[in-house]
Amino acid sequence: TTTYTYEPLNEITAIRLVKQLKLFSESEALTAREIGDGNLNLVFHIVNDQTNKSIIVKQALPYAKVVGESWPLSLKRATIESNALKQFGSLTPELVPDVYYHDENLAVTVMEDLSHLTISRTGLIQGETYPLLSEHIGRFLAHIAFETSDFAIKPQEKKELVAQYINPDLCNITEDLVFTDPFFDYNTNEFEETLRSDVENLWTDEEAKLEVAKLKQKFLTSSQTLVHGDLHTGSIFASERETKVIDPEFAFYGPFGFDLGQFVANLLLNTLSRPAQKRSVLLDHITKTWDVFQTTWNKLWVESKVEPFVKNPNYSDYILQQTWTDAVGYAGCELIRRTIGLAHVVDIDSLPDEERLNAQKAALRLGRYLLTHQTEISAHDFKNLIEE
Ligand code: ADP
Ligand code: MG
Ligand code: MG
Ligand code: MG
Repeated sequence: TTTYTYEPLNEITAIRLVKQLKLFSESEALTAREIGDGNLNLVFHIVNDQTNKSIIVKQALPYAKVVGESWPLSLKRATIESNALKQFGSLTPELVPDVYYHDENLAVTVMEDLSHLTISRTGLIQGETYPLLSEHIGRFLAHIAFETSDFAIKPQEKKELVAQYINPDLCNITEDLVFTDPFFDYNTNEFEETLRSDVENLWTDEEAKLEVAKLKQKFLTSSQTLVHGDLHTGSIFASERETKVIDPEFAFYGPFGFDLGQFVANLLLNTLSRPAQKRSVLLDHITKTWDVFQTTWNKLWVESKVEPFVKNPNYSDYILQQTWTDAVGYAGCELIRRTIGLAHVVDIDSLPDEERLNAQKAALRLGRYLLTHQTEISAHDFKNLIEE
């Protein structure tokens, strides 16, 4: 086998690579196109136009390009992403792309082409409803959370996994951009002057900031389970019938509620971008995600052979309640950082001026409310909270 040294691929070398790997034969005529959004990674779509056979080659870049600047970023995240996709694939094969090949030196993962699906953020903005989205993501999240935790894996093996997923550079991005910068006057923040008084109120809001500090502390130290780490609606491909989770380069061992909170927040951001009469489908997705999560979790709990106290349902309820409370808090952080931090969501940014400002103010208000009422909010409460 060939030992590769790192160099960024281009259309020609990407084709050469997949032929070397025998994913296509030497004689096939292939077309390659770079389709990534280019801040952290290259993504090549490679297709044989005669047979329509196609694959995706994703390669990590050794730096992050953000607002004209660039800083170094470990290539090891490509291996973490590939391992996480395979791990997810062993638990919920129908909900992630197949991985065909990975090379650590090249920081390349070759995977199933999902171009027949749409990125769910894009689809939701266009009014798609994705009737199975919450069923699938609820099941995905419960399987990953339970089956990579101490409730399903022997403690010694689980600690090996924790070590395998140590991901300091990418965790640091989250620690800064989700839990720190938006709550202080940092120059990475990004918001319009019309929002300044709301933002300055947040910066002096010690009650909300204390909750953010606690959630950040948990993110930094709690190794409960393998989390995806970047589970917004842009990391989910969907159609009427299928759902596929991609892009776990931020994966690490973290809190049970983190992914759930980010997913819920991104559904809420889309909800806030819509007129009142078109919101219920999103709110139903939130309640369904949590229902399915709990049902799936409880089934896995009863079946698990590892943790000696599993049969006591009070213990399961305690963990689920802690998971939901954390998810509400993480959703609050995500609502705020997507509104005034570095990375916004198109759902809201693409609205006309007045609607955008209203949606942004509502997102800040809701984010603050979630942070300061974590233990009181049920999945069914979002409907009323959104209307207020
Ligand atoms: P990044 O980490 O840079 O955000 P992603 O993994 O999210 O990279 O991929 C960026 C884009 O590339 C996606 O939004 C999607 O358009 C395309 N893409 C990524 N993976 C696939 C895939 N398996 N099949 C089809 N398109 C993909
Ligand atoms: Mg991207
Ligand atoms: Mg990514
Ligand atoms: Mg992405």
